[in-house]
Amino acid sequence: MRLSTNFTKTKKQVPADEQSKNAQLLIQAGFVHKEMAGVYSYLPLGLKVLNKIAQIVREEMDAVGGQEILMTALQVKERYEATGRWSDKVVDNWFKTKLANGTEVGLGFTHEENLTPIVKSYLNSYKDLPLAIYQIQTKFRNELRSKSGLMRGREFLMKDMYTYALTQEQHDEYYEKIAQAYRRVYDRLGIGERTFKTFASGGVFSKFSHEFQTVSDAGEDTIYLDKKRKLAINKEVFTDEIIHDLGLTKSELEEVKGIEVGNIFSLGTKFTKPFEVEVEDAEGGRVAPLMGCYGIGISRLMGTIAEVMSDEKGLIWPENIAPAKVYLVRLGEKNAKVADELYENLLQIGVEVIYDDRDARAGEKFADADLLGIPYRIVISDKTVEAGKHELKQRTEAQAQSLGLAEIVKTLAGDNKV
Ligand code: ATP
Ligand code: MG
Repeated sequence: MRLSTNFTKTKKQVPADEQSKNAQLLIQAGFVHKEMAGVYSYLPLGLKVLNKIAQIVREEMDAVGGQEILMTALQVKERYEATGRWSDKVVDNWFKTKLANGTEVGLGFTHEENLTPIVKSYLNSYKDLPLAIYQIQTKFRNELRSKSGLMRGREFLMKDMYTYALTQEQHDEYYEKIAQAYRRVYDRLGIGERTFKTFASGGVFSKFSHEFQTVSDAGEDTIYLDKKRKLAINKEVFTDEIIHDLGLTKSELEEVKGIEVGNIFSLGTKFTKPFEVEVEDAEGGRVAPLMGCYGIGISRLMGTIAEVMSDEKGLIWPENIAPAKVYLVRLGEKNAKVADELYENLLQIGVEVIYDDRDARAGEKFADADLLGIPYRIVISDKTVEAGKHELKQRTEAQAQSLGLAEIVKTLAGDNKV
């Protein structure tokens, strides 16, 4: 992408009405636009990051047999009355509205009541189970406080998966498989090392649920870490009994703040019973399938990564989800030929490039390269053209390398064919 054609610009000032680092950086860099607290529009570079995160999640959900669908944001009141969740006393963060004929509808904050009747209409036999179905969709929640930028949206992108199983064993197997898929997601996103599977409160059908918590001072949760075993306990269930049950030692646990980037939950028959979903098992008996639900906050992850992977100069995206791999700085109009050619060559081998072809000062271009957090920066200037060697520098390193064009292309090609 040629920066001269990009309609967004970086801002000199940190937005005054944002307290959270992730929102300050993302707005300053032109990745998102704030509509109101907890409600953000995604601009070209921000949408690229969001889509890349979503794609990694999608690949890992597909790999465990997930089938992707897209459900509606508008929710039927009766379905939620069937499970007791229409009441504002039970769910306090509904956005509700009315159809033209006066019928009340809700804006989806989750989708168990939406999906379960769909599944019921296709479920014939126990042989159809287990099933894993997911979507990546905008959720609406009337959050009381939305001061954490993308990390707590009133409108936000979530991946929600639901499993339906015949037996407890089948359910447990899927639950474990999905927990492992979550690990792979966080590893690929570059936050695997600081993200901990965390025991949290479980509800009626299981003792615990599991959250995935990314350690950060900006987190809203308090968790107790066992770094060696890569486990944590949420403060909400932190008792001597649980520490003992998990075979942990209290004095070895470290109290830290965490951001909940995922949550997996056993639901038993909480939703299949009210909708009278049943299948005939091998013995001819009728059974209500056991459900699980598995959420990942896609937009919260973008906020989290901006929060934990940044420095005083700006964002630092992991290569997998950066809006581009390379930020190509051209200094001096007369070096256009060399820079244009390198730009085209990199595009041809599938390397994404932000080409700073603007008529701007060197300092401004370098500052923008850092603020946008692009993994590699190339500089082509009078000096480098004369020497036949140009600057290649990583965002995370202070020193640049001096390399010829062919070497630069080779270094950046990675697994791509040169
Ligand atoms: P929290 O405890 O943070 O309010 P939750 O337990 O209500 O979240 P779930 O309903 O389990 O969240 O949603 C699944 C995932 O969606 C969460 O693990 C989180 O990553 C993300 N998420 C939840 N609420 C928000 C929000 N308001 N903004 C952005 N992401 C969210
Ligand atoms: Mg939670």
